[in-house]
Amino acid sequence: MPLSSVATSASERELPFYQRIGNECGMFEQAFRQRLPLLLKGPTGCGKTRFVSHMAARLGRPLFTVSCHDDLTAADLTGRYLLQGGETRWVDGPLTRAVREGGICYLDEVVEARKDVTVVLHPLTDDRRLLPLERTGELLEAPDDFMLVVSYNPGYQHILKSLKPSTRQRFVALSFDFPPPATERDIVARESGLPAEQCAALVNLAASLRAMKGQDLEEGVSTRLLVYCATLISAGMPILEAARATLVEPLSDDADVQEGLMEAIHATF
Ligand code: ADP
Repeated sequence: MPLSSVATSASERELPFYQRIGNECGMFEQAFRQRLPLLLKGPTGCGKTRFVSHMAARLGRPLFTVSCHDDLTAADLTGRYLLQGGETRWVDGPLTRAVREGGICYLDEVVEARKDVTVVLHPLTDDRRLLPLERTGELLEAPDDFMLVVSYNPGYQHILKSLKPSTRQRFVALSFDFPPPATERDIVARESGLPAEQCAALVNLAASLRAMKGQDLEEGVSTRLLVYCATLISAGMPILEAARATLVEPLSDDADVQEGLMEAIHATF
């Protein structure tokens, strides 16, 4: 199965922009230095992935990002034998590459993955820091600059899909949420190029849309969607059209809920 994994070398590019909210950068750096795995909790689109790419670049480590899904197995992470040019060759998966190369492996939405994934994560997350590759007979010891980072969204996990205590208690954990309004305004302005006053109005609107979460909506509008909205407005799209396409349609298919969201948008613009 093809994996959405990307290896990026920090030296090849500039530091990705990340506006810190608290001391999360200091905590990440210490976890890295102390060889501790990190768990990031928080809603979708609130900056977790950007944070990890920023920190990987800052620490000068290659980053291997895997978006987990319900078909993802341990072999997708560790590797498998593939037939190449008539020969069977072992090909490392992203987790194995991160261990061999001393990089950061980021498993996004880890609870989505199949159960056998936790079997490979457990020995890597205790002080042995080992990755057994059954198929090749290797037992890899993670170097000091290897780090495992996983994320999950506690908001929409049902009970069967939350992390088991035996897994989560192996991680240092940080909670993420949408940034405070002034910070979110600055992030949206910087990412989209839209003037700060207009971004402030979008952030205010987001607060009222987020207040509707729980009643009819599973998730509040994300910082990512605000950036999309501001980007379209900045490119010349009419505000209401941009807002419908970014703050209404992606959030709900229900006509009544959509109407409620549009009412809040009309009240702002
Ligand atoms: P997550 O991984 O939590 O789903 P992302 O990291 O992909 O979310 O964030 C979505 C977008 O929101 C980013 O691409 C970026 O434009 C913006 N963003 C959110 N928080 C921040 C932040 N603190 N600094 C910079 N950009 C941010």
